[in-house]
Parts: sequence; C-alpha cells; structure tokens
Amino acid sequence: MKKIIYALLAITGVLVAILLFNTVSLSSKQVASEPLQKITIPNGVYSNLSKAIQYPTISYSEDAIPDSTVFYGFHRFLSETFPLVHEKLTLEKISDYSLLYTWKGANKDKKPIILMSHQDVVPVDQPTLSDWEAGPFEGKITNTDIIGRGTLDDKGTLMALLESVELLLKESFVPSQTIYLAFGHDEEVGGANGAAKIAQLLKERGVKASMTLDEGGFLADGLVPGIDKTVAIVNLAEKGFASFRLIVETQGGHSSAPPKENTIGMLAQAIVDLEANQLPYTLVEPINYQLDYMGAELPFLKKVAFANPWLFKKPILEALNAHTTTAATIIDGGVKNNVIPTVAEATINFRILPGETIASVKEHIKKTISTKIKVEPVGFLTNPSPVSRIDSEAYKSLEKTIRSVFPESVVVPGLVGGGTDARYFYEVSDDVYRFYPIRLAPDSMTRFHGIDEKIGKENYKEIIEFTYQLIKQLN
Ligand SMILES: [Zn+2]
Repeated sequence: MKKIIYALLAITGVLVAILLFNTVSLSSKQVASEPLQKITIPNGVYSNLSKAIQYPTISYSEDAIPDSTVFYGFHRFLSETFPLVHEKLTLEKISDYSLLYTWKGANKDKKPIILMSHQDVVPVDQPTLSDWEAGPFEGKITNTDIIGRGTLDDKGTLMALLESVELLLKESFVPSQTIYLAFGHDEEVGGANGAAKIAQLLKERGVKASMTLDEGGFLADGLVPGIDKTVAIVNLAEKGFASFRLIVETQGGHSSAPPKENTIGMLAQAIVDLEANQLPYTLVEPINYQLDYMGAELPFLKKVAFANPWLFKKPILEALNAHTTTAATIIDGGVKNNVIPTVAEATINFRILPGETIASVKEHIKKTISTKIKVEPVGFLTNPSPVSRIDSEAYKSLEKTIRSVFPESVVVPGLVGGGTDARYFYEVSDDVYRFYPIRLAPDSMTRFHGIDEKIGKENYKEIIEFTYQLIKQLN
C-alpha cells in the first residue's frame, strides 16, 4: 500500500514539476518600445472623416451595381481633401470604383508594401434608424466621437491612411520602398470586383510586396479575460467561408396521413446531426502563437493552462473558437398547414479553420447526415488563407511600431473568423497582416455593421499616428 502511495506522490510531483517548468518557461514575447517623436495632428481631421461618412457608399449585394454618383462624389471629395496625395502619387481606378494609389519609393530594389482599406459600407437596417444617436450618414461630431456608418469599418482607416500620407508629404518625406494604397469598393460583398482585381493587376505587373496590411485586427480593451493591458491583435490568417444548402426532396402528401419520414423532419434531423457532430477543436498555426504570446501575459493560474496545452487543450481551444464553426442560417419549406411539402431546404454556414478546406467540410457533411439529403455549395466560398510569418522583418516592424505608439499594449498574433479583402493579396505579398489600432471594448463590439457605429476622436488620431509611424519605421 505504502508503495502505491509513494508512486502516486512521485507521479504527482513529476506532473506538477512539468506544469511549473512550462509555466515559468513561458516568458513574455513583447519587444521593447522605442520613444517616438509625437506628431501634431490638426483637429480638421475630424471634419474630413465626417464628410467622408456623408457619402453612402453602400454595398447591397454581389450583383447590385454600385451607386456611381455616390462613389464618384467620394473620389472627388478625396482629391479635394488630400491635394498632395493626388499630386505626388499615381492614382488608378480599377473596375471604375476601386482605387489604387502608387507612391514611388526611392529604392527600387526594396520590396514594396501594400496598405489596404475599403470604401464601401454595409446598409443600415431601417427599423433600427431611430436607435442611432445621430443619422448614420450625417457624420455627426460630438465632444468625444464621430458617429456614422463606416467610422469603424472601414472609412475611418481609409481616411487615416490618407491623412498620414498627406502629413508625410507635407514634410517632403520620400519612402525608400514603393507604397501602394489599395482601396476596394466591394469588400462587404466579397471583393471580387475590387480587391481581387487590384491584386490581379499587381500580379500581372510582377509586384511582390514584403507586406500587405489590412483591417481585421484591433486594440482590444477589456476583451481578453485575465489581461488588463490593451491587447493588440495582429491577425496572421483568416478562416475560410462556405455555405452549403441541404435539400430534402420527397413525395410529400396529406398531413392526415404523414409518411414515416416527413420532409421537414428529415431536414431538422440533418441540422441536429451537424450541430451534434461538429468539426474538432485543433491546435493549428496561428493559434499556437496566440497561446504563447497571450499565455505569457496571463495571471499565474491561467498561465499554467496556456503553458500546458497538452493537458488543458480543450477549454482553451474552445475559448479561442479554434475549430470550423457550424451555423444553420436559413431554413425554408412548406406552403400550407395541412400539406407535407415535397421540398425543404436549409443553409448551413461554416467558417473553416486553417488546415481544413471547402472540400473537407463538404465531405464531413455527407458523412454526418442522411444520404437521402442532397448537399450543394451555395453563394460565396473561400478556403482559409495561408498563415503569415511572425519572424519576418515586416512583422517585426509592425510589432515594434505598435509597441512604440502604444507602449501600454501587448501584441498578440491571431486568427480572424471573418473575411477581409486581404485574402486576395497572398500571391503578391510575402506576408499579409490584419491590424489597424481601432479600439474595441465590450460595448463597442456590436457597433460593427450595427447600431451607433462610431469612433472616438482620440482613437481616430491614434490610427493616423500609427500609420504615420509605421511608414517611417518601415524606412
Ligand atoms: Zn471592413
């Protein structure tokens, strides 16, 4: 008996030692911040953003034609607001509405960089109009904020980029490498005519950038449990996106004599089967980086878990949503209360984890549900993006700039669940990152595409300062 107790104690001791060793070994990955020369940003930038918001550059659907009056008006506004940008940079229009600015660098041997944003915004849900603090396209400036559709997603960033370039041009700054500013016009409906075409054009010209930077990462305040500091999330990859329609076809019949397999019941069962048999949580890149970078900043007990994913994998991966998600989004079937329909359909949307593909998800659906149900891909589909590096020069510059402009922040690489235009740029860029310092707090999460979209004045200046310093840092 004693022997068993000793053995158990020894095993526990070894286990604790391993846990502690891994925890202590997980040291902070944060680079030192560098003192920067603060820049003075005029308050006129607020009214510029306000005016930009007043152009309702809405993307309604993939096949809707953009409102040319609004888009061309917006372009005219940009050329009047940023005279130096329009004098010193070359501007090309792609698919009529997308904008590609080229700022020629002094050193043609240095790889260019691509800074992205998008001009279009999502529509406003009309019944929610009265819930807005100000009209979504009014561009109201309050003591603290600029309110309106696009302030967060993504005209705020577009305008900040142009403001910083205009400031740099005022100082007669010449970048060493060529800088492209790429502003698509249809990101909210997939980017096929905008960003995809810009990337294609750059590819035809043989452009190979060292870095592309786009939306999709943030400064998160109070969003990561256990970390009091601001977390700067730089996303290295994005999940894929695919929807599949499940179609059940039967003979139908009269509801007084229902068949054993009712069309709607079969469809409901298939949805339940998919929800009950979800794709597994997996520790893939870049989630592993996220564990290391985030874990090191956590209080002791949480750090123990992050430092030992071999033991605590499940809860951590669940918290990080590290799997291909399954969401039933549309259901349709039946016409009359006493008729069993001959057809019922449901659409299931999947956000695909790196390592899996559209094809493997389809395979999973077919394996999981009844073979009597047809499965068809529907709408826009894209595989997960490749995962960009954290040891590239570009990433190091990005990290350094974030830590220097926001010394109170910690930089954490990650994976974004939603899609961005950036996914088109892997072929013309060594690495593709998603980050602009838009501050997100628990109460602002719903403002994206939602009610009362607004950006803090201070935060808007921070974005301008960041893009200004980044361009300098890269030189
Ligand atoms: Zn966006």
